[in-house]
This record gives sequence, C-alpha cells and structure tokens, in this order.
Amino acid sequence: MTDKITLTIPKKKNIALIAHDGKKAELIAWCKENTEILKKHFLCGTGTTARMIADATDLPVRGYNSGPLGGDQQIGAKIVEGKIDFVIFFSDPLTAAPHDPDVKALMRIVQVYDIPFANNKATADFLIRSSLMDEEYNHDVINFQQNIEQRAHTLPNK
Ligand code: PGA
Repeated sequence: MTDKITLTIPKKKNIALIAHDGKKAELIAWCKENTEILKKHFLCGTGTTARMIADATDLPVRGYNSGPLGGDQQIGAKIVEGKIDFVIFFSDPLTAAPHDPDVKALMRIVQVYDIPFANNKATADFLIRSSLMDEEYNHDVINFQQNIEQRAHTLPNK
C-alpha cells in the first residue's frame, strides 16, 4: 500500500459557503455575482449563511447547524467523509468569534485533504473563474487506511 491515494474532485462540486456575521453581506453579493457558475454545483453552508444566501438568490443551499453551534465542525466532518470538496469561507479578521477553535480545525482539515479554500473575496474570484471548475480534478491525499495500519503496527502497545 502506498502512503498517498488519488481522490477526484468531481466536475459538479460540493461547495460549502460560510461567512462570519460581518462578512455575510459580502458573501451574498458574491453569490449573486456568481449565480450562473454556482448553480452548476451542489451548495451547502453553515445554518445562517445558507439560509441568507437561499433567501437572497434562487440558489438551493443545504444548511448545516449554525457555525457557533457546530456547523463548521459538521462541514469539516463532511470533508473527511469525501462529501464536501470545495470551501468558500469569508471569515472576519477584525472580530473575535467564540468558535474560533472550530474555524481553525476546519482550516486544518482543509489542508490535510487538499481542498480548494478561499478565505477572502479575491481568492474566491480567482477560484471560481478557474477552468478547473468545469473539470474533474485528481489529487493525492494521505492514504488514511495505510496510515492507520502503519501506526497500529509501529506505535508502542505496552
Ligand atoms: P452561520 O455560521 O452561518 O450560522 O452564521 C458561520 C460562522 O460563524 O462560522
């Protein structure tokens, strides 16, 4: 077994949309600007963000729990399960949030699973206009099965 496996981000992507309160209006405006592209993909998001985008646009957005109530963690778990493969997160760099550890955890899991991730509008603009939005994308990520086997056989058990 190799230490990497190839996973495929499909043509029709599973995109998570998240915005902190001070950035919700900016993300809604961005979704309106990019509706034609976004409607080609599956959309989900943290509870309040998802509801506000769905109310302001014609886009269907599946809502998870609100961010401070575990929504960012739910999205992280879906990335681990291979069910979310793209994240747009307009975080607010000027306001402290009670769920900052959850946001850090999501950013870490995004790195582990090599998920496209935008945390501001400019990055989101570059990502959404990429030709890869209309293609499958193969990438190598850690082979989690092999990682468990190796650790189970090499770590001290007594
Ligand atoms: P919300 O959560 O969409 O429910 O507001 C976003 C967040 O603050 O992480």
